Amino acid sequence: MKILTIIGARPQFIKAATVSRVVAELDNVTEVIVHTGQHFDTNMSDVFFEEMGIPKPDYQLNIASLSHGAMTGRMLEEIEKLIQKETPDWVLVYGDTNSTLAGALAASKLHIKVAHVEAGLRSFNMQMPEEQNRILTDRLSSILFCPTESALANLEKEGYKATETKMLNIGDVMLDAAKFYRAKAKKPTHLSESITQSFVLATIHRAENTDNIEKLTNIVNALNKLHSYIPVVLPLHPRTRNILAKAKLTLDVEIIEPVGYLEMIYLLERCKFITSDSGGVQKEAYFFNKHCLIIREETEWTELVDVGANIIVGTDTTKILDESLKILRSEEISSTFGQNFYGNADAAESILNELMNY
Ligand code: UDP
Repeated sequence: MKILTIIGARPQFIKAATVSRVVAELDNVTEVIVHTGQHFDTNMSDVFFEEMGIPKPDYQLNIASLSHGAMTGRMLEEIEKLIQKETPDWVLVYGDTNSTLAGALAASKLHIKVAHVEAGLRSFNMQMPEEQNRILTDRLSSILFCPTESALANLEKEGYKATETKMLNIGDVMLDAAKFYRAKAKKPTHLSESITQSFVLATIHRAENTDNIEKLTNIVNALNKLHSYIPVVLPLHPRTRNILAKAKLTLDVEIIEPVGYLEMIYLLERCKFITSDSGGVQKEAYFFNKHCLIIREETEWTELVDVGANIIVGTDTTKILDESLKILRSEEISSTFGQNFYGNADAAESILNELMNY
């Protein structure tokens, strides 16, 4: 069996690493990796391949820094050529980026089967490019690998039971990754020596926040204030860095370069809690028994909000601060942690079994 895997962004490198590790153990499966180039700088790309032992991409498309339409269009064109050349049995796509959609669309037009990992997630906010990408990718896929029961339920509500598409809850590849790489966690080299005690881990990169000056200003104000109570460590995404500079907004927190996944695990394990607009980080918080304040108006990982582990705070400065202080004041680790929402850390094995036996 030959799989053509499409990746292009940081979270996809992490997810794909778990599957590539299993492929490496199988004699009858070949994986051809295509890196679209959506994330291209060293700290957002190369470090993951080096640290996580992901095989070097077979193809580098270098398609980046374009508008959504132009980026998706160019990827579609290039991936189509590669599918024709490689003639895979499956095109495997992850998550919800433009690379995901371009891969799924190129394959389905050539009648090559598509498998979507992280299927069924919904924010119910069609303004988000991620939501558009997920919904379309799910529709084009032959197998939908859902990470949770709620993702599977979303697909059922959309009528997928009446289609030929196969849907399965196999658990979350991010849990596979967190469990496997935990033992390899390493301290970020550029973390200042003063950050030894408890700290808050923050990430901000989502377009709905960075591209709205009012929201971004509120977030910056909240993090700056929070930093006066407890150090805030923020691995700064390059697009956020650029936008902050243009808007002349100053983040007075411990800013570090984006870190590799092994360093991220080090921070996740040691922080007091997390504030983030990332999808993946919300769950990783849970894997490491940490609360996460979600700097968005909605989330795809609703089960964590339902059990009280994560709290949606939006971009209201006061709410972000109030909820942060509540967590800081409470001594106990909430009993909400430890529920088995994301499977048994064997999602990658399930994916390969399903693809081989389809
Ligand atoms: N991450 C990382 N280094 C960083 C920030 C995030 O390795 O500096 C990891 C994080 O632990 C998670 C993934 O990248 O596994 C999430 O990526 P991102 O927040 O860019 O995307 P999203 O999950 O929102 O799609």
